[in-house]
Amino acid sequence: MPSRTSKKNSVVTTSARRSRRCLACGTEKIEPRRRYCSDECRRQILWVLALSKGLLKAFNARYAAFSFTPEHVILDVIPAWSNAISRFTRARTNGCKPAEDLKCLVLDWGREWHGLVGNRNSRSYASMHLLRENHKEDLDPSAIKPDKKRRPRLSKPERDSLKLLKLERESLSPDCCREKIKAAYKKMAKIHHPDVGGDAEMFKRLNEAHRQMLGWAENPQFTSRKALPDSWSYDGATSRWYPPL
Ligand SMILES: [Zn+2]
Repeated sequence: MPSRTSKKNSVVTTSARRSRRCLACGTEKIEPRRRYCSDECRRQILWVLALSKGLLKAFNARYAAFSFTPEHVILDVIPAWSNAISRFTRARTNGCKPAEDLKCLVLDWGREWHGLVGNRNSRSYASMHLLRENHKEDLDPSAIKPDKKRRPRLSKPERDSLKLLKLERESLSPDCCREKIKAAYKKMAKIHHPDVGGDAEMFKRLNEAHRQMLGWAENPQFTSRKALPDSWSYDGATSRWYPPL
């Protein structure tokens, strides 16, 4: 029988472990600028996450998130037909990496699911039954949905130009960047134009920044962020797992 331990904590419990901890096992014994303690540790978590896709597909998962604490491994699932989180947890085994406990969790719930289907239930009944049983009302679904916001993709000189124009990166959207850039330039030009006592050198730099950003706006590039800050995230639309930010 899989563990049904319920924890009140949300998926954002592991924030302190990012950057200087191995993304797969959480150890702090990690070399600078590395995201994993070893190649083997990275391969192991990727293998188990790939294994979990079978269960996630059976659940018709739209989104899922995997996180771990020293006590538990946690798999949160939002199925396509609902906007509620179902949480599957398992207590950590002494001396085992989170990947190994996640593997047991996935296999246990897979066995439950197959048991229900073998018992003359439909596949969708089996999925719905297990998801409902583990439904956690107190969890906010937005916590495991990756940020859909698109951010402008900018080079270093373009970021500097944006600063000179005193323009927020987030204010640039695909449909109105030219107007935003021009308006920002006009506003700054009123301050820095030599005719109104501004510094000629500063005005020259401002013009250069304006020219550069209009160039960027000719063919603006945006990136969408698929990752969550504190946990591994799964997107059912692409069937892919993304590491934490
Ligand atoms: Zn590791």
